[in-house]
Amino acid sequence: MKYKHLFGPVPSRRLGLSLGIDPILYKTCSFDCVYCECGATTRLTYTRKEYISVAEIISELDSFLSPKPILDYITFSGSGEPTLNIGIGKIISFLKQKYPQYKIAVLTNSSLFFYPEIRKELLLADVIIPSLDAVSNNIFQKINRPVKGIRPVDIIQGLINFRKEFPGKIWLEIFILHGINDTDEEIDKFHIVLKKIKPDLIQLNSLDRPGTENWVIPADEETLVKIKKRFKDLPVVMISNYQKREKVKSYNLKIEDAIIATISRRPCTADDLSEILDIHLAELNKYLDALQEKGMIKAVKKPRGLFFRVKE
Ligand code: SF4
Repeated sequence: MKYKHLFGPVPSRRLGLSLGIDPILYKTCSFDCVYCECGATTRLTYTRKEYISVAEIISELDSFLSPKPILDYITFSGSGEPTLNIGIGKIISFLKQKYPQYKIAVLTNSSLFFYPEIRKELLLADVIIPSLDAVSNNIFQKINRPVKGIRPVDIIQGLINFRKEFPGKIWLEIFILHGINDTDEEIDKFHIVLKKIKPDLIQLNSLDRPGTENWVIPADEETLVKIKKRFKDLPVVMISNYQKREKVKSYNLKIEDAIIATISRRPCTADDLSEILDIHLAELNKYLDALQEKGMIKAVKKPRGLFFRVKE
């Protein structure tokens, strides 16, 4: 069966062997982050609806999971913000009832966490990976470029409330951008709110490739180490310290080979590669990151976007 809304299992550094569920139409999000690997947001909204039919997703899940494949996680992520699908709670409940052996993770920008009903829909998940890139509104606007009306103060309060209600793990992710959210002042603000949110883990991350805007510069390792030291009383890790992606079960060297073969003929964007190789963009991005980490490919900015080519 060809799946339209499932992808992978992907080699995830954080989640091991992870089956992706994409419950959103490309590219629907309440943010338009400057570092987004899925490209520019074409539908900037916080309207919740059944962007993808819940019945269709459940039918695909049933087909994929009935032979009882080995998986570490089933993860909501993909082409935008998964909590915008109004049926996310129903899908999680279905999985927990029919396939309780699988752990569920949700990657979210946490923009809708101030709505109690959304927090309630996520309660049965095992791990929530929310992102929080700024405490100050001006920095939040600059990095996340949200739909009008979303404020970091509400997101933070939503996360504080969620922590009190949610029995599972919260691994909060912060994307650090050089000169934007890595100032001493902003890091001090983060420190205060992180103590209130009380995540189980704080993951410091930065860009693996050039950003969509010229002014977006990845934070270097030294900066991440400095921030980690300032958060020394908190459970913080640097994502780059995680195990190499290709050691993760399910890492498929054939996909690597296909990417290399394609871009050695002509440089391609991630979108081009996703279409040519018929691999979901979120899955493809994991391989592009791994190939860049290994120094085998390079991203070059051009007017039509970021092109990948083989490194000489
Ligand atoms: S919240 Fe996630 S999907 Fe949405 S624009 Fe930001 S990085 Fe992309």
